[in-house]
Amino acid sequence: MSMQRHSLKFFGTSAAVPSKERGFSCIGVISDETNQSGAPIEFGSNGSTSCILLDCGDGSVRRIIQSGESVLSIRGILITHLHSDHVSGLAQIIETMAIEKREQDLMIYGPKGLEDYFVAVERSTRVAFNRNFEIQIKELSGREHFSISSTWNVKTLAMNHTIPCLGYRLETAKEGGEILTLAYTGDTVPCGEVEELARAARVLIHEATFLRKDLPRALETKHSVPSQAAEIARKAMASRLILTHVNDKYESPGEMIEEAKPLFENVQVAFDGLRIDLG
Ligand SMILES: [Zn+2]
Ligand SMILES: [Zn+2]
Repeated sequence: MSMQRHSLKFFGTSAAVPSKERGFSCIGVISDETNQSGAPIEFGSNGSTSCILLDCGDGSVRRIIQSGESVLSIRGILITHLHSDHVSGLAQIIETMAIEKREQDLMIYGPKGLEDYFVAVERSTRVAFNRNFEIQIKELSGREHFSISSTWNVKTLAMNHTIPCLGYRLETAKEGGEILTLAYTGDTVPCGEVEELARAARVLIHEATFLRKDLPRALETKHSVPSQAAEIARKAMASRLILTHVNDKYESPGEMIEEAKPLFENVQVAFDGLRIDLG
């Protein structure tokens, strides 16, 4: 009998400009098969680890490898929107998969325009020209439901950003036990859909690009500040809030926490390399 343990790995947590410490957006939802005693089954024994990627900015592949994950364990990629800090790592990751001799099909989901983007990149760069696996690209709008693996069901909601952006809500498929729900906003200003996305989520991963002092800039560029993310988490009755997409101009996450905590206690700021065990 095997069970699964889930974790989140933050591979990249920056906003549109990376910093010395932070790279572009990329988060892994990792599911490990374990045997009854809870010990991990040895890596490589028939796909014991699977990973769903949330966004894939430039440089993600290196940080995935640094964290000890293999690109071959990636089952699918969910892209929130086509701003380059969320999608520019796609070609690099696919090239690496081809060189590592991936054979399993790869599903990539994202908003309308993803297919055009990928076809153009593929035509110009001939990325993974000799690959032995199929890439299936599926363009989505809000309020779609699908399963991305035997473990995860996904629901999309349309966020409110300067270009179409999808928020993703992931739920473990029902199997008697408690359902694990994760929500990821991508880039957005607060809106009703974000609250719906986050409804009773175990973990809400919410962008917080600016501090309150830069609220006009957040509104103009359709991003959020920490107190807005915290307000959503509170209203949606999420259990835990993780702020990401951090502006390179802010030196420490302390101010972000200060702004969020009065509204929502269980909050932290993501950093590259953060791993959260979800049991
Ligand atoms: Zn962004
Ligand atoms: Zn954006």
